[in-house]
Amino acid sequence: MYVKHLRCIACGREYPTTPQQTTCQHCGFDGILDVIYDYEQIKKVWTKESLAEDRDFSIWRYLPLLPIETDTLRPNLRVGGTPLYHACKLGEAIGVDKLYIKDDGLNPTASLKDRASAIAVVKAVEAGASTVACSSTGNAASSLAGNVASLSGYALNACIFVPQRAPAGKVAQLLIFGATVISVQGNYGDAFDLSTAAIERYGWYNRNAAINPYLVEGKKTVAIEICEQLHWQAPDWAVFSVGDGCTIAGAYKGFYDLYQLGMIAKIPKLIGVQAEGCAPLTRAWETSKHWQKTEENTLADSIAVGSPRNPEKALRAVRESNGLMVNVSDQEILEMQSFIGRHSGVFGEPAGVTGFAGLKKLIENQRISPEETFVVAITGNGLKDIANAAKAVGEPLKLAPDIDQLDKVLQERDLI
Ligand SMILES: *Cc1c(COP(=O)(O)O)cnc(C)c1O
Ligand SMILES: [Zn+2]
Repeated sequence: MYVKHLRCIACGREYPTTPQQTTCQHCGFDGILDVIYDYEQIKKVWTKESLAEDRDFSIWRYLPLLPIETDTLRPNLRVGGTPLYHACKLGEAIGVDKLYIKDDGLNPTASLKDRASAIAVVKAVEAGASTVACSSTGNAASSLAGNVASLSGYALNACIFVPQRAPAGKVAQLLIFGATVISVQGNYGDAFDLSTAAIERYGWYNRNAAINPYLVEGKKTVAIEICEQLHWQAPDWAVFSVGDGCTIAGAYKGFYDLYQLGMIAKIPKLIGVQAEGCAPLTRAWETSKHWQKTEENTLADSIAVGSPRNPEKALRAVRESNGLMVNVSDQEILEMQSFIGRHSGVFGEPAGVTGFAGLKKLIENQRISPEETFVVAITGNGLKDIANAAKAVGEPLKLAPDIDQLDKVLQERDLI
């Protein structure tokens, strides 16, 4: 491992890299830890050239930049290696030439969260745990359950706390993967609190967002992959939807690591996008004040986080990259599901397309120049939540099996 230590983002205290280390003992929930690497040592063994020869296209190709031992058992799923498309038609539709979309819905359990959960499973094994637990709006849960299920040679259980509103597709995934699923009759905050109490009482391994410093290190692989896929030409802007803030913080860490290693020439400006009905971090960014708890009033369930768990790391990512934050309405999110689908063939869940909705709005309002290079992450797959998708696109044409009726309908729509 090339990790030197963990460092509190609030007070700077340092901690050893034990698997169980969570937040800073002095700062509590505000004392989220950063993983600090020995870049000089990494530079000696890991180069663009050595990577070019590596035939493993999963996240494990970035092992020197991951906080795990090299010989620990790993989940058997292929996490990472998702496509980065130059989305010409989608870009044209919003007046942008250099638009790339990173389809992270193509991870094994269909969201970017697999990148974090794969690391969590490795750390749980290193900790010698028999149960790993988390609370989640849905995707962290299904990714943890899937990655646990794929592990062979080690008995590990997944115990998952989801809020009542978690979409049926995500809950079905959990049950299919054999996890113990507790559907907490309350919101994400309630699920989080119950999971915290259970983890403390039973001594389970903690995969909760932000609390566990290693998860962001998994999420950062999305940024490393983007740069490698762009042949180490970092984009001008990278766009992510924001709930707890771990994803955008992870993206920043990936770019930061590569910049420290001299593998990219600049850190992209990060755009964080929240839903209007649940935007505590955009508000904090706009007012430069401490974030305030808000309602969770959005259909984008994965970012319906009224009390974000990684606020400071997320705001730091936006600030230090000279980026910005913006909100979009649920209506805009729904419209972007079919807009992206029609113009790219990629189907994102509501939170998965929220980033793009934000970018479109910023371009339309001329807040950023369309001349620049943009990468937008589609963070989760739309098939997980077809109830919302159906709201966006309505019903198909219903017709008796009769060619004359078909003729009539097609003529009405100018299709023949
Ligand atoms: C979790 C999630 C996000 C947001 O990530 P945070 O770390 O909570 O900010 C965005 N999109 C999808 C699909 C997610 O599952
Ligand atoms: Zn501290």
